[in-house]
Amino acid sequence: MPLEEEYIPLSGKGVHAVFFDAGETLVHPVPSFPELFREVCLAHGLEVDMLQVSRVTRGLMAEVEERQREGFTFSDDPEKSRRFWLRFYARLVGELGYRGDDGLAQDLYRIFSDPERYDAYPDAREAVASLRDRGYRLGLISNFEPWLEDLLVRLGLADLFSVLVISGKEGVEKPHPRLFEIALERVGARPEECMHVGDSPNSDYRGAREVGMRAVLLDRWGRHPSFAGERISDLRELLTLLD
Ligand SMILES: [Mg+2]
Repeated sequence: MPLEEEYIPLSGKGVHAVFFDAGETLVHPVPSFPELFREVCLAHGLEVDMLQVSRVTRGLMAEVEERQREGFTFSDDPEKSRRFWLRFYARLVGELGYRGDDGLAQDLYRIFSDPERYDAYPDAREAVASLRDRGYRLGLISNFEPWLEDLLVRLGLADLFSVLVISGKEGVEKPHPRLFEIALERVGARPEECMHVGDSPNSDYRGAREVGMRAVLLDRWGRHPSFAGERISDLRELLTLLD
């Protein structure tokens, strides 16, 4: 039975620690992935339509998620991650009609690996600061390259988190239980005292539920209409959920 069918309505009772995913949950490329992507492509003579970029990217990401369900990993090693993203961008621009050399994929990788190109969602800043003020211990559990830590420092968010658990540093990625267990050990809490929030039904929701944490899917754009578990569309909803 899919885990989300076991969903029991949440109350904040007993939750002491809240963990967050990073990409598309707390932080995003500026101004947005499709806009930044389009800018880099233009510099290489490729004109792309932003809607088409979003559509093709979502299709490729769905394929990656399917492979991840079968055990494929890439964010657990920085070199593996680099190779994965270079291939991903090469395929993405290929599907958008690009026939040039790999310079475009290299540039995309460089731009999207630059902490200066990212910002925090406004609701993320507000929710994280408010939860911290209310006394929750906060942590991060992310499939990301090690430079995520520099990004959080740059955004002034790093100090709000008691623990940062990043796949590229730990050598294991979500939804593997080990990454969640590392977070539990570092925060010193039992799984049932913790909630994890993220935008992936598989890596975040299912991964957290499998170690016994409470889980909430962040579905900012209504991409998962058939998801049956607990869901929010804005991180500030956590404050009500945990009340
Ligand atoms: Mg994410």
